Amino acid sequence: MIEKVHQLISKEEIALKVKEVATQINNDYKGKDVVFVGVLKGVFMFMSDLLKEINSTRVTTDFIGLSSYKGGTKSTGEVEITADLKDSIEGKHVIVLEDIVDTGLTLSFLLKNFEKRKPASVAICTLLEKPSNIEKYVKIDYKCFVIPDKFVLGYGLDYDERYRNLPYIGVMEFIEE
Ligand code: 5GP
Repeated sequence: MIEKVHQLISKEEIALKVKEVATQINNDYKGKDVVFVGVLKGVFMFMSDLLKEINSTRVTTDFIGLSSYKGGTKSTGEVEITADLKDSIEGKHVIVLEDIVDTGLTLSFLLKNFEKRKPASVAICTLLEKPSNIEKYVKIDYKCFVIPDKFVLGYGLDYDERYRNLPYIGVMEFIEE
């Protein structure tokens, strides 16, 4: 099998959209202290580019590692925290940054878990949303792109841990040799 990647969203389109979403966040959170929580590890490029456009000097960052158990290619809904936040979010305004919302199971787990930690507010910001697979509805406050039901990679997202370094978002095609 030969792996071939087709570009779905260019780096220029990503840069424009990320700026647009950052402007919305800048407007919505004026004067508030915000903790940006990145869900590892696919979010790292998006988080880096988005945060460079956030104009408050009072924001902080934290990370959480989650792994969902998959039965075949489908998520089972069982999620485990593999690396927890470093600091408490009690009384804080939290913006969760995700690479992609697919079934919604990971985020709905995270939201329930965060509720117990008593933050002042929690909003969700995702680079990509694949609405065709949704199983658990989660309210997404900020999103960059809605994509069709295809496995995507690049710009932080992996295929078997590879391709995270691509500057664009692509779709994998497998060609028989
Ligand atoms: P959910 O719980 O919403 O089904 O899963 C979200 C997680 O599944 C994402 O954070 C990501 O790790 C993974 N995922 C879902 N769809 C894709 C995809 O098309 N490409 C990649 N690389 N990961 C995906």
